[in-house]
Amino acid sequence: MAQRYVRVKTNQEQVYYGLLQLDRSVGVFNAPPWLGGQLTDIDLKPDTYSLLAPCAPSKIVAVGKNYLKHAVEMGTPVPREPLLFLKPPTTIIADEEAIKYPKQSIRVDYEGELALIIGGLAKGEALRARCKDLSPELARQVIWGYTIANDVTARDLQKKDGQWTRAKGFDTFCPLGPWIVRELASEAQLKTFLNENDTPSQSASISEMVFPPEVLVSYISQIMTLNPGDVILTGTPEGIGSLSIGDRVTVEIEGIGSLSNYVTA
Ligand code: MG
Repeated sequence: MAQRYVRVKTNQEQVYYGLLQLDRSVGVFNAPPWLGGQLTDIDLKPDTYSLLAPCAPSKIVAVGKNYLKHAVEMGTPVPREPLLFLKPPTTIIADEEAIKYPKQSIRVDYEGELALIIGGLAKGEALRARCKDLSPELARQVIWGYTIANDVTARDLQKKDGQWTRAKGFDTFCPLGPWIVRELASEAQLKTFLNENDTPSQSASISEMVFPPEVLVSYISQIMTLNPGDVILTGTPEGIGSLSIGDRVTVEIEGIGSLSNYVTA
């Protein structure tokens, strides 16, 4: 199994980055691993911590309509360049936390997505630890790892506002995690399940993206500086659908794991 990089809060409210072991104990790093953090001799026993979302980004940059069949189901063409929007970091919740259904909306959708975690460039390029104006080749090098996200969206407000900030920006609208892995197969399958359904609502290979990860990161870096720990959401495949209070939604990506959240009022 791939190494699982986590962020945890101890029962004493201390927050650490760490490596999750098979026995569920956590080896603690002295800094975020994408900033060169090293393992310490602190080892947290399974019942002494809870998992947080695996990073705390300065921003979440998301991409709309990056799968052809999803653009079709939205009744729109595939954009000729990546279509970007921001989600505030306050949208982030961890695995098994509650998505809160906002009073302002009557149509809230799930969007299962692959999330990229940005690191820095390797030693020798230390001056470029903040990522700006990267070629796709350099962009590939700054993708530190991968996790799972749910780009929860108030679809009615997205249509009503034209701008997407409100529809995408409610607290709890970015479940993220449960951990980060460093490697991912280029054909990895993404599936989203609602409640007890055995048949996925969404099922696609990440290789079906219109603009692949290194192109997205390069493109975004022409606009804004990406900081270590920042998160890129790479778009959702076909099969989006609505959530109701009481629902459970689970996004799985082969080689990472699964991210599961429930919906409350
Ligand atoms: Mg999305």
